[in-house]
Amino acid sequence: MTEQTKTMAKLAIHGGEPVRDKPLPPNFPGAIVMGEEEAQAASGVIMDQSPFRYYGENLHNTVQQLEDMICEDFNVPYALGVSSCTAALVVALKALGIGYGDKVIVPSVTFIATAGAVVSSNAVPVFVECDESLNLDPNDLERVMDEDVKAIIAVSLVGTPCDMDKIMDFAEKHDIYVVEDVAQSLGVQYKGRYQGTIGHVGVLSFQMNKIITAGEGGAVLTSDPKIFERAIRYHDQGILRGMTRDRYGFTEIDENEAAFAGQNYRMSEITGAVLVEQWKKLSTLNANTRKHYRTICKRLREALPNIQFRVSPDPEGDLGLNVGIRVSTREQADHLKSALNAENIDARTMYNGNLVYMNPQILHQRTAEKNNFPFDYPFKQPVKYTEDMCPRSADIVNRIVLIPISPVLTEEDVESIVAGVIKVYRHL
Ligand SMILES: *Cc1c(COP(=O)(O)O)cnc(C)c1O
Repeated sequence: MTEQTKTMAKLAIHGGEPVRDKPLPPNFPGAIVMGEEEAQAASGVIMDQSPFRYYGENLHNTVQQLEDMICEDFNVPYALGVSSCTAALVVALKALGIGYGDKVIVPSVTFIATAGAVVSSNAVPVFVECDESLNLDPNDLERVMDEDVKAIIAVSLVGTPCDMDKIMDFAEKHDIYVVEDVAQSLGVQYKGRYQGTIGHVGVLSFQMNKIITAGEGGAVLTSDPKIFERAIRYHDQGILRGMTRDRYGFTEIDENEAAFAGQNYRMSEITGAVLVEQWKKLSTLNANTRKHYRTICKRLREALPNIQFRVSPDPEGDLGLNVGIRVSTREQADHLKSALNAENIDARTMYNGNLVYMNPQILHQRTAEKNNFPFDYPFKQPVKYTEDMCPRSADIVNRIVLIPISPVLTEEDVESIVAGVIKVYRHL
């Protein structure tokens, strides 16, 4: 079939022949390139019987190596490997001194971990709208600002950077902190700087669904030695071990005055070993994804001059993890989604169109604590959530159809995505 006949053909959803006869490869970029390198590195740690980062007979220092690679490649002075990005968010907030009686601004479109980690840190999230980038709308920050707000969590959703200039300006004006949640967008840049290194703290995830992975894992980035020292403590029972004191020049600190109660969010050496090998693959993975993304967008623009894509505050720094197609109504989006899926092209809306505060534990402010601590704090301006509190986000998130772009697509896969979108779009 020529491309013309293929794209004018009957939609698969109406019983026509699909543009692809099988689904695209699963979109776990790091996991699907796991192999000999990760196996060797992990088994090296196991054979040398040194799975713990702070002591052992034949320590490989894999977690330290990972931290050094992050610092070097992202041009940031301090990085700390932790057990997950949820842990990293809690560590970040605790390092900033945020807790009971504080509010933290969270975007209405994000994974539940962003909001949940605020609650686990004993603070309370307040939600702002997203814009056509799906990331938080800096113009909505003022609406929720009051004297109890201490930080903003800027989340880079699936590969697109946040509008960091506006977010940083707002934070500076109000003297509050910015935490960058880069769990979904490792390597994304804003105006030539890596996201995660622009705000006061950045957090990364190495869970299976993210770009690179060891199954689980996370990291905390900062340029501030004091925040870093507090982050190390919170992740390791409130203590600062001798090797850390020496390495980072914290030798003058009086432990009697500085120690505070913490957690165990340490990263294991086995995780570190896998992640060192995965980190080496990151730039190639991202380069391949971006190449496919750009080819697809260019071809779609040529064929469909009216097509509108998800907006990015910095297209140069965008990872292109998804081709986001913006349509006018939710009905069009639903049709686009199901028609593409019938063509064997994965297409979805972010979180199925559900805003993060619609999760029952957030909406109903339910925690495992007595009196639903920390929601019981007597804020001067009480925090109440309602289903319709971010109507613009609810509209936008249901009108942007995302087609995931994998780094391992073949030329044929790329062609089929282009053909499938053209075919379905022309029937809209
Ligand atoms: C996945 C994710 C997290 C949590 O990461 P884990 O490593 O699974 O704890 C946090 N924030 C966002 C935006 C995420 O997508």
